[in-house]
Amino acid sequence: MKVGVLAVQGAVVEHMESTEKTMDELGLDGEVVRIRKRGSIPDCDGLIIPGGESSTISRLIDKFGLREKILEEAEEGMQIMGTCAGSILLASEGDEAVERSDTKLLKLMDMSVERNAFGRQKKSFEKQVDLDGIGREFPGVFIRAPAITGCGNGCRVLSKLEDTIIAAEDENKLAMVFHPELTGDTRVHEYFLEKMK
Ligand code: GLN
Repeated sequence: MKVGVLAVQGAVVEHMESTEKTMDELGLDGEVVRIRKRGSIPDCDGLIIPGGESSTISRLIDKFGLREKILEEAEEGMQIMGTCAGSILLASEGDEAVERSDTKLLKLMDMSVERNAFGRQKKSFEKQVDLDGIGREFPGVFIRAPAITGCGNGCRVLSKLEDTIIAAEDENKLAMVFHPELTGDTRVHEYFLEKMK
């Protein structure tokens, strides 16, 4: 099993370490690699798009010529997980803040997102969340997190915080607005790896 972490900007190392730890825990024979070249994408069974700055990641995806390969492989069924900024990039529609930043979305999931939706005073916070099919009371670390403002066509809501959608899944695509890689809890990575089997 080979998992790639898009390594252009953001929480790359944290995702690599969480994935490696999860592989160990599950006794899986696997490898985690940094993705910066389009040629290495087809070798992967899964791809993680980490948190960071969605506008920057989108710009670098194009600078490194990765967009087409990511879209092609997603179409072929490669497992993709986007966290925080990564979840913004998976969306089909962004709010005004996304538009203003010239972010080019990958549009792999039929969902709309609002950038920095949790406002100033709650810019960063931690809250336990329940994730359908993954587990209860998962420590959700929200750092200038977006919100998922709507899910359409085949896109399933996995979790809500009060009335706000914070995680969704559409077949081989998984999006969450928080940072599972910043906790010692590996249940999200476990779920993601199980989907690759
Ligand atoms: N606010 C960031 C953005 O809009 C996301 C923050 C994060 O990934 N921690 O891209």
